[in-house]
Amino acid sequence: MKMVDIKSLIRDVKDFPKQGIVFKDITTLLKDPAALKLAADLLYEMSRSAGITKVAGIESRGFILGGLLAERLGVGFVPIRKPKKLPAPVISAEYSLEYGTDKIEMHVDAIETGDRVLLHDDLLATGGTAKAACELIEKAGGTVAMLSFIIELTFLSGREKLKDHDVRSLISYSSE
Ligand code: AMP
Repeated sequence: MKMVDIKSLIRDVKDFPKQGIVFKDITTLLKDPAALKLAADLLYEMSRSAGITKVAGIESRGFILGGLLAERLGVGFVPIRKPKKLPAPVISAEYSLEYGTDKIEMHVDAIETGDRVLLHDDLLATGGTAKAACELIEKAGGTVAMLSFIIELTFLSGREKLKDHDVRSLISYSSE
């Protein structure tokens, strides 16, 4: 299977979750075993030499490949979640989304000082979510060694908010 096949398995859903948004649906990729394995393999190859000590995934689609990646790298997984989902004491950060604003949280004891963290999410749009997640990891004493995404919407310039970091994506779209 070639890289181009991953792109062909992403489904565009128009006007979800609201009018004017073209939602990039990865469930059509996730249900295909060969594509799921290829995506995990490619993400692993990108990050295996980066000295990663933890993978952090952003709720909820970042948990899927983030979890697979943590297992392959032989490191632990840290969930970054929407407010009031995590049971123990948290730190939080505000962010703006392509379609609204929100807040994310992480357990205060999730990251150890000196951890080299790979931050994973399904999609990079404006970069607000990932930037807030980086702030949480850094506030907790970790270093964001790499950010990985399945999809990057380059026309929204999310990378510009993440200039100080190593940002990788498997596929990109230069227009909707
Ligand atoms: P942003 O903070 O603008 O980079 O938005 C990234 C977050 O919003 C990720 O967690 C994505 O899952 C979600 N997201 C934003 N835009 C889209 C889109 N067009 N399709 C699917 N997910 C999206």
